[in-house]
Amino acid sequence: MQRSQAIQQVPGKLQRLAGWGANLREDCWLTEPATLPHVSEWLDRSGTIARGLGRSYGDAALNGGGQVIGMTRLDRQLGFDDGSGTLTCEAGLSLEQIIRDFTPRGWFPMITPGTKFVTVGGCIANDIHGKAHHVQGSFSNCVDEMTILLANGDVVVASRTENPELFWATFGGMGLLGVVLTATIRLRKIETSYFRQKSLRVESLEEMLSVLEEQDQLFPYSVATIDVFARGPRLGRGVVTVGEHAGLAELPASLSQAPLRLASRSHLTVPFELPDFTLNPLTMRLVNAVILRIQAGARPLGHFESFFYPLDKLAHWNRGYGRRGFTQYQFVLPFADGARRLREILSAIFSAGELPFLNVLKRMGKGTQSPLSFPAEGYTLAIDFPMRKGTRALLQRLDAMVLDGGGRVYLGKDSFLDAATFRAMYPGVAGWLETKAKYDPDGIFTSNLGRRVGLVSPR
Ligand SMILES: Cc1cc2nc3c(=O)[nH]c(=O)nc-3n(C[C@H](O)[C@H](O)[C@H](O)COP(=O)(O)OP(=O)(O)OC[C@H]3O[C@@H](n4cnc5c(N)ncnc54)[C@H](O)[C@@H]3O)c2cc1C
Repeated sequence: MQRSQAIQQVPGKLQRLAGWGANLREDCWLTEPATLPHVSEWLDRSGTIARGLGRSYGDAALNGGGQVIGMTRLDRQLGFDDGSGTLTCEAGLSLEQIIRDFTPRGWFPMITPGTKFVTVGGCIANDIHGKAHHVQGSFSNCVDEMTILLANGDVVVASRTENPELFWATFGGMGLLGVVLTATIRLRKIETSYFRQKSLRVESLEEMLSVLEEQDQLFPYSVATIDVFARGPRLGRGVVTVGEHAGLAELPASLSQAPLRLASRSHLTVPFELPDFTLNPLTMRLVNAVILRIQAGARPLGHFESFFYPLDKLAHWNRGYGRRGFTQYQFVLPFADGARRLREILSAIFSAGELPFLNVLKRMGKGTQSPLSFPAEGYTLAIDFPMRKGTRALLQRLDAMVLDGGGRVYLGKDSFLDAATFRAMYPGVAGWLETKAKYDPDGIFTSNLGRRVGLVSPR
């Protein structure tokens, strides 16, 4: 493959990259600067995109045939205020490293997704949300300031008061406005690394939604899993799990000696992509039953690792979906009429003959002013599908149902949404494109996702 003239001299290698779902692989020129000035020096002005830990499921951090700037070597901590829990760091720092360094000192990420293997830059670009979105909002709520490398080579500060338009458009902006170099984020004070939690079994979708609503008044963290094999009146049966950081006084003597203990690292891994036949209705029925049983049996006091990051215990678990990979489909639907529409969507999924699998249902609180930020008030469901023949067609049908219900799909998980549907789902697109034209008029920041959904011009 021809390398663009601009980056002939730039260190980097041609590498086949994929998102976490591995449903699309692209040969990209991966450049991994270890210093901030190198990001600017090595930027390929014919087209580039930043990449964190590659935990977006689709093509957000891919730029087929062009440059991808791997940010993970830029992981330095630049300052920490122990009084306020304010951390300034390079954008390639991972939440995993933040937890390792700061939990023993009584601090935890303010807002975290369902894996800790994400970078601060990735959390900003997707404006990620966690299990407490209904009370804590999305990642923008914990970011005070960032420095961003723009297409013209300038490095600017963006905050609520300085370049506010750029600040807000960068959350959910999928790396398409510039490279976030550093960020100042606020951490959360914790007394212990333990979690007070409970799970409740529910027998129908209506019960699921009312239990979630009731428990959201009592607990900041909540999440539900649906039994993907329940049908008819039992459709939506599953388990709701809720929790809260435990205080020191809540720990038994055996734990209070080391209240901020880190969990030991797991060495479990899926060593290679499993053959496609491994996933069949029988194995999925078994795994589904095991997942529901584990969740229903959550102990009243557990380590936060099990509550926040159950999947992180098995490295490379995505390989379990085989060579063709999988996709995660996540949407949010407004509360009004949401229950009926959720039922319709679940019925469409379950009657399609696909193999829906891991899933997470929760209630979201209000969104932010970021034009492309995903979270919005309503029900959000994320559900995995191994890639099979009919998966794409099913997702297109779901897109239409979500759009019809006034909802939207999450770009951080998406692989297939088309430009027209995306535009209809996100009314803020036009405003965001004006910001893009202002800060990156030549479309230097580009990606497979950006081109697919029409946030940048096709090449
Ligand atoms: C198991 C699992 C659970 C998850 N749970 C959740 C969840 O609960 N909530 C949620 O919101 N998401 C969730 N996600 C998705 C994940 O949090 C996001 O996709 C996140 O953005 C990934 O971060 P990353 O560092 O891997 O970024 P990547 O996937 O590498 O990149 C994501 C986007 O960020 C951009 N980007 C990365 N670094 C920079 C930078 N320095 N400057 C500018 N742009 C940059 C990229 O261009 C790309 O557009 C989950 C993912 C997994 C695998």
